[in-house]
Amino acid sequence: MSVPSTTGSAAPQVCTTCPYCGVGCGVLAQPDGHGGLTISGDKSHPANAGRLCSKGSALGETVDLADRLLTPEIDGAPADWDNALDLVAQRFRDTIAQHGPDSVAFYVSGQLLTEDYYVANKLMKGFIGSANIDTNSRLCMASSVAGHRRAFGTDTVPGLYTDIEDADVVVLVGSNMAWCHPVLYQRLVAARKARPEMRVINIDPRRTATSDIADLHLAIEPGSDAALFNGLLAEIVAKGATDQAFTAEHVTGFHEALEATSSGDLAATGLPPGQIRAFFDLWLRNEKVVTVYSQGVNQSSSGTDKVNAIINCHLATGRIGRPGMGPFSVTGQPNAMGGREVGGLANMLACHLDIEVPEHRAAVKDFWNSPGIPDGPGLKAVDMFRAVRDGRIKALWVICTNPAVSMPDADAVRAAIEACDFVVVSDVTGRTDTARLADVRLPATGWGEKDGTVTNSERCISRQRAVLPAPGEARHDWRILADVAARMGWQKEFDYRNPAEIFREYAALSGIAGTLGRDFDISAKADISDSDYESLAPFHWPCSARKIGGRFFADGQFYTGDGRARMLPVTPREPVSRPSADYPLRLNTGRVRDHWHTMTRTAKSPRLSQHLAEPYLELHPADAQDRGLAPADLARVESRVGTAILRVVVTDRVRPGSVFAPMHWTGETASAGRIDAVVAAVTDPVSGQPESKGSVVQVARFDAGWYGFAVSAAEPFPTDAYWAKARMRDGWRTELAGDACPDDWEAYARALFDLPDAEVLSLLDPTRGLARLALLRDGRVAAALFASPSPVAVARNHVATLVGTMAEAATLSGRPGADMPDPGATVCACFDVGVNTVLAAIREQNLASVEAIGAALQAGTNCGSCRPELATLLAAAQVREAAE
Ligand code: SF4
Repeated sequence: MSVPSTTGSAAPQVCTTCPYCGVGCGVLAQPDGHGGLTISGDKSHPANAGRLCSKGSALGETVDLADRLLTPEIDGAPADWDNALDLVAQRFRDTIAQHGPDSVAFYVSGQLLTEDYYVANKLMKGFIGSANIDTNSRLCMASSVAGHRRAFGTDTVPGLYTDIEDADVVVLVGSNMAWCHPVLYQRLVAARKARPEMRVINIDPRRTATSDIADLHLAIEPGSDAALFNGLLAEIVAKGATDQAFTAEHVTGFHEALEATSSGDLAATGLPPGQIRAFFDLWLRNEKVVTVYSQGVNQSSSGTDKVNAIINCHLATGRIGRPGMGPFSVTGQPNAMGGREVGGLANMLACHLDIEVPEHRAAVKDFWNSPGIPDGPGLKAVDMFRAVRDGRIKALWVICTNPAVSMPDADAVRAAIEACDFVVVSDVTGRTDTARLADVRLPATGWGEKDGTVTNSERCISRQRAVLPAPGEARHDWRILADVAARMGWQKEFDYRNPAEIFREYAALSGIAGTLGRDFDISAKADISDSDYESLAPFHWPCSARKIGGRFFADGQFYTGDGRARMLPVTPREPVSRPSADYPLRLNTGRVRDHWHTMTRTAKSPRLSQHLAEPYLELHPADAQDRGLAPADLARVESRVGTAILRVVVTDRVRPGSVFAPMHWTGETASAGRIDAVVAAVTDPVSGQPESKGSVVQVARFDAGWYGFAVSAAEPFPTDAYWAKARMRDGWRTELAGDACPDDWEAYARALFDLPDAEVLSLLDPTRGLARLALLRDGRVAAALFASPSPVAVARNHVATLVGTMAEAATLSGRPGADMPDPGATVCACFDVGVNTVLAAIREQNLASVEAIGAALQAGTNCGSCRPELATLLAAAQVREAAE
């Protein structure tokens, strides 16, 4: 659907949806006439009402064609579509004929649109005859799915985002909402401002940007969430806060769940009794409590139990499905929910039908007119790549995801993919760690070029719409899959003309699921026309003759055999890996504010790349001191399975004994920043979700012979022991470290920047190991390198402005002149405001609030994603001032 231009441009604005997190914000996108897009928030979308975070706001910077895969490739050589599709179909057909259907697998993504997902799932489960299709959502929220299914009988998110705004107490468990679901966080902040009596509790071992809004931050021992919620359940019963009528009529397992609480010990949380008491009191005193949980709960070897421990408390008090209360899982990916609904997980059928239930399988088989549906689940992600490694899976198709980076034990996964007989990758770029390993690379359309639907964390289905043409020979994922299906012999069953046809088929199947008693039913949309689909407005499921939108479970009706919810007995368990003398530190992994997954899109944006330009390790001052580590040193992080080299950030935001590293850096952006190479492949026994926050590691100084910082107009390709590169406005910035100083810095720099004939300006001090060089083209700086025997201390944001300027005497100083203050590291990506600028304004203008900073500098006044960091800077400045 498009709306008339409001900017004077000839092209209309297109209503679409953000491709990043599970908040699912509506976006207005408009071609800017130069290949890019002008982006704004869609005021009419129920998720964001016009707001966008830094990532969403920068979408227009990510649609260029640099690094795009524009033509199919076979063994690295360009091929035409017919040859590539013939080869894929033939190799899958031959492998299945020789080794059976379970010798092939699809590994797909929560970034796919529902229509793409539907076709992939139909092809694998309905026609190939294997359930070996799993999705990277397994790494994100499979424990929530499993917890929902155990408690409710189906994978239902009971509430709506407005419940978070209407609650009197919001409990955020394992959720850095300020960075990972920023617009939902902004809604929470606005609601709290409107109702200051609202209380926010943040349960997280790490103090994050989200903790800054919390009235109570419970820095629990990693993995002790179940002990805390078991304790809460016992307290609910002890204080007579149970909803006896609700539990008597609508819940089973109450006594078993209560009995299991005696096996836990609140001391395991490591929290002072006063904090536990304050948490329990707030929970018990207020009926309107929403418990929001995310990856900190899910990514655990006992993630499903943790989910059920939370749900138990809501069931015991009947606080579910009513305004302002309930458990609330927020998903990481834009269409994690759509993937759950459409059967993208190896253990589910489409439309929340169960693969183990013969009646459900028969219904889907009849509807698809398929030869048969497997009668049990396929391999979940970790097991799938183990099967690739040991040769049970011989043909693998990876669609729109990057498992060589994002899977735990990522080096082993990378080796398994490399050794697999036949690997196909469909993606927007061939420059991912996984795509580089493929026998066949298929160019897929990306966000802004494709059409379909996605579902956000509150069950809202929205359209993603194309605003740009498909580039080169890129094709839509559903079409690529359908073309392969046709070549495998199922032309008629996959003869789709457009995504609207797929959506109608899916909606019709959901109607059958509805008659079989399932919650996911959008059959009211089964007959919509192509033009209705084109203009489809966001709607919450279900959408059928029986029920339209709203919440679930206030009526006490659940989707179990007897219609009652299940409370589960939960025995708290520590993470599987225990700290030891060899591996004494607990590794937590997670997201940063301005990057998304393995950065194939966000790394294109100079704005987003400036916030945190390098992979890093947060560790506590005491742990840093024990290891002789100072801020800006490099550290080697090692587990039993792998190693990473990361920049040291010393902070008391992490607990002693714990370290944190972001998940985003890849082999394309850093030499050794793939943190999932360090994470052990331990999984939850119920959900199969990996324990991404519970590995144990040792950390030691990475002693380099020299350290460097470089800027360049063109992308460099370093081969040193350590490097990490990021885009900036006029090129690239690169951090470097090497074992031994090059004998000839000039030759090194010419090779690094591929500028063999450039004029060189240099300042070399071999005795002190210092080198400063600028490589010039027509007198202008094409690249510059600053090297020293310790981490380089130059004003990086200033050096980044040198590229393209006329060289002069001050070029190699690495510092701005007195008349050009160094803005420091970027805090506000929207207005490019640095930390030094903010601190100077606070000091010089006596700024006392985030709003005042916004008025003075604009920082925080657009997307608002940096407001928690502005608040932190303000608080730190005020503490400093009070101490002076
Ligand atoms: Fe996109 Fe940000 Fe909205 Fe998430 S919160 S959907 S990343 S704009």
